[in-house]
Amino acid sequence: MAQDIIHMVLKNYCDFLKRVDDHIGHIEKKYSDKILCKKGCDACCKFLTLFGVEAFAISAAFMKLPEEMQDLVTKKIEKEKDACPLLIDRACVLYSERPIICRTHGYPIYMEKDGEIFIDFCPENFKGVSSFPKDALLSIEQLNTTLTAINRHFLESIETDTPLPDRIPISKALFLLNEIQ
Ligand code: SF4
Repeated sequence: MAQDIIHMVLKNYCDFLKRVDDHIGHIEKKYSDKILCKKGCDACCKFLTLFGVEAFAISAAFMKLPEEMQDLVTKKIEKEKDACPLLIDRACVLYSERPIICRTHGYPIYMEKDGEIFIDFCPENFKGVSSFPKDALLSIEQLNTTLTAINRHFLESIETDTPLPDRIPISKALFLLNEIQ
């Protein structure tokens, strides 16, 4: 598939990634001494399932990796079931292209249930922080709603022989572009 078409169908998704990254950048600045996420800290990097639009984006990035790296990832898919196959030598080989969930992992997110607010973040981070201002929190519901809408729009804009499943395992997502061109 031509790069300009890939770029076009991913525009909304890329804009959304940028908004999430801006938020995370703001948190990183504000809590710079409280965030311990770093290269080699890979406990979050479990096997993922992705929306079609995320699968398409990661596949487009994967196809640009050098062949040797693609082979390493493919071998990892064959031997490991629990870890994300993009985790090689304890680092993500598509870090700048990683999905939304990987960008928000470890940072404070909140969800509302029965009128109560639940806040979650990596226990390694934010030690000694007992509360967060609203602008430091990401609403998990809002993230999901936005991603669902972007995914719906994406699915309407591409043609596939068979409809894409609601969620695509990363082991299949990486090769999605081959299937739909
Ligand atoms: S895509 Fe990258 S950051 Fe996300 S789980 Fe896989 S290795 Fe980790």
